[in-house]
Amino acid sequence: MASSSSSSSYSNSPCAACKFLRRKCLPDCIFAPYFPPEEPQKFANVHKIFGASNVSKLLNEVQPHQREDAVNSLAYEAEARIKDPVYGCVGAISVLQRQVIRLQKELDATNADLMRYCNEVPNPTLGRRNNNNNNNNNNNLGEGGGGSFYYPSSSSSAWNNDDTCGGGDGYHRG
Ligand SMILES: [Zn+2]
Repeated sequence: MASSSSSSSYSNSPCAACKFLRRKCLPDCIFAPYFPPEEPQKFANVHKIFGASNVSKLLNEVQPHQREDAVNSLAYEAEARIKDPVYGCVGAISVLQRQVIRLQKELDATNADLMRYCNEVPNPTLGRRNNNNNNNNNNNLGEGGGGSFYYPSSSSSAWNNDDTCGGGDGYHRG
């Protein structure tokens, strides 16, 4: 009756830890819930780096609901240490930190470029306002064809004199 329960996979074959250590996997085996027989490498790595008795001690020290996270952390650290015996997972962390710093610099440079571009591109609202002023002036002087001819040079000089950026600056003032 007990052997046909849902946890038959655990009761039938020893857990990865007990199989590795060649011992009988008892029902209260501390490793069994976290080292299933399908993942033999997980325990092999952890055992190689930390030692089975240290893992057992650590699992007994932490709360049952934290044990799975603890085992996953140990497995991650052990795998990283096997791949990189000198730096372990610190190697991966520093690679990612360097990547973050590089991307932050790239972002800063791109933002600076954007600001520069923003300053070079004429502000459409300012341009329109100046053009309207010019049109009014033109109307005083004389209208029609003269106005349209006057357009480009006056508006471009207005843009060059006015150095405000198109985006936020104008809106803050207005
Ligand atoms: Zn076991």
